[in-house]
Amino acid sequence: MSRPHVIVVGGGLAGLRAALACSDAGARVTLLEARARLGGATWSTTRAGLQVDNGQHVFLRCCTAYRGFLADLGVEDRVVLQERLEVPVLVPGRAPAWIRRHRLPAPAHLAPSLLRFAPLALGQRLAVARTARRLAALDRLAPQVDSRRFGDWLAEQGESDAAIDGFWDLLVRPTLNLSARDSSLALAAKVFQTGLLSAPDAADIGWAGVPLAELHAEPAARLLRERGADVRLRARVDAVEGSLEGAPSLLADGERLTADAVVVAVPHDAAAELLPATSGVDAGALARLGASPIVNLHVVFDRPVTELAFAAGLGTPLQWIFDRTRSSGLARGQYLTVSLSAADAWVGHARDELRRVFLPAFEALFPAARAATVERFFVTCERAATFYQGPGTAALRPGPDLAWRGVHLAGAWTDTDWPATMEGAVKSGALAAQHALTSARGTASARAAA
Ligand SMILES: Cc1cc2nc3c(=O)[nH]c(=O)nc-3n(C[C@H](O)[C@H](O)[C@H](O)COP(=O)(O)OP(=O)(O)OC[C@H]3O[C@@H](n4cnc5c(N)ncnc54)[C@H](O)[C@@H]3O)c2cc1C
Repeated sequence: MSRPHVIVVGGGLAGLRAALACSDAGARVTLLEARARLGGATWSTTRAGLQVDNGQHVFLRCCTAYRGFLADLGVEDRVVLQERLEVPVLVPGRAPAWIRRHRLPAPAHLAPSLLRFAPLALGQRLAVARTARRLAALDRLAPQVDSRRFGDWLAEQGESDAAIDGFWDLLVRPTLNLSARDSSLALAAKVFQTGLLSAPDAADIGWAGVPLAELHAEPAARLLRERGADVRLRARVDAVEGSLEGAPSLLADGERLTADAVVVAVPHDAAAELLPATSGVDAGALARLGASPIVNLHVVFDRPVTELAFAAGLGTPLQWIFDRTRSSGLARGQYLTVSLSAADAWVGHARDELRRVFLPAFEALFPAARAATVERFFVTCERAATFYQGPGTAALRPGPDLAWRGVHLAGAWTDTDWPATMEGAVKSGALAAQHALTSARGTASARAAA
């Protein structure tokens, strides 16, 4: 039997995972990426000698598909993964509070630090512990759960505004790119059940120790090419064509390419443009998935202003702050990034306006910043960083199969059981590859027999 040919459209993490899985399984792979680089929503650039990522990316120890992908790329040593969950929570003018795991079985492993979490009053901490137990027991896959707002459910459990904003939002906003109040209850439950309450070490935090391009795009391109895959950049696909029975084909820059299977691993709005209704794609549903922005502030100080590798902020506009000095190649001073999730309020603001708001906030959190000089301040903005992870999205996220034979979907927005994350993207790519290989082998054998 001739080797089946799989075309993967889109070189983000979903497409890279799918392409690697298909070539590992012996398929001939063509990867078509519209941009001049791979990596999709995880990309890096150089700004006046500084290696800059489009936005800080973190993962958790429980992100096993993503970590397996890093292992396949041979880059596990390029990430930092905490030995034990430990998050400093900084409140202006107060001592840091800590969210830590302790040597206790889940979910008790978080109880000691929760009970000492000074930003909340003791009664609020006890209420949070009680609500967390209820959240652990929630059937998050029930349709009525996904149709509810997490904030409404929290209020129903008796959670105060202070606890919603000072505890639940601290964890939900960066993971769902939406406020705790607006998020889907099902997705918030997923975050807590899988990330925090399932196993003591599940929520240990990891991040890239090198620019994202050196973690994903470059090693994946090298590996794919070593395995004989045809990786084409600046190759925009204009249409995917298929039918209930025949082999799919597509148009890329005016050229028609045929394949035994196609994995469409592009963002949801692009998928709706590439695939007509006859394919089984519901463009209206994909449009309703919407978008939510992430803004990153990049600040270079002339001297170190904090020893923390990262911290969360409370009572400050600085949401999550990360030290990127080493990974950026900065030789002197300190480079901090601030990740602002669900950042609608900050999109479109001029750099100087953001400077006026955020630099005093740095000084309030890090006293050493008062004496430091800000050498650089710039902003990166991803307007459609993730889909809008509000109520009702579960029903809008399709699985890998379409009505058309041999055309499969992947992407962090598909039905992965995960929020829009690197883990979800990699999982979707692996699943789409399995389905594409089955279709492609069937088509290739039928072709050989004809
Ligand atoms: C600033 C920011 C911060 C984030 N932080 C985190 C985090 O901390 N942790 C986490 O887990 N996740 C985070 N995410 C989310 C995560 O990056 C994404 O969910 C994931 O990378 C999406 O991968 P994907 O392959 O599904 O899609 P994408 O990365 O969007 O890849 C799709 C690819 O398809 C290409 N494409 C589109 N149309 C076409 C076409 N017609 N022809 C050919 N190619 C096409 C695009 O150019 C793109 O390369 C963050 C995202 C952003 C933007």
